[in-house]
Amino acid sequence: MRSAGELVVDRRVHGAEIARFRSHIVCGPMTSDCDIWTGAIGADGYGRFYLTRGGSGLCVRPHRYALAIGSGVVSAGVLGLHECDNPVCVKIASATDPHQHVVSGSQGDNMERMARMRRGGGRYAVRRFDSRGLRRERSVALREAVRHGWDADAVQAALLGDQPTLW
Ligand SMILES: [Zn+2]
Repeated sequence: MRSAGELVVDRRVHGAEIARFRSHIVCGPMTSDCDIWTGAIGADGYGRFYLTRGGSGLCVRPHRYALAIGSGVVSAGVLGLHECDNPVCVKIASATDPHQHVVSGSQGDNMERMARMRRGGGRYAVRRFDSRGLRRERSVALREAVRHGWDADAVQAALLGDQPTLW
């Protein structure tokens, strides 16, 4: 994808767009649970949300869109970073616990965060998902796990990459 441009989400102007965005999200019951994007997923394992702005189509990352709902605007070059190490999570980290879920940051912050997780700071250290293929596989498994509502066992299995055989 192109480098991230400025993204504006105005609750009054973009109400229908926000409602469509929310229709693609399944939330877990605990604050530690991720809110999982169940819409389109790209080859890199990250979600895709398609908008029409000013008559032209636009594709954005759902977790960055979620940040824009919260703050009204995400500046060019500012990324959404996953402290939960789950590319399809769109839950914004709470002010009281910024070490969960999606936070905003620069590319430099992202490099620092990835190095920290490689040192063992990630929540899901059981199996690393550094490759695009594995990341997409997990994202698709998570989407499947919540297709009929939040299934805690299926979500945990998908996060750990421990999928039962699908018949
Ligand atoms: Zn999360």
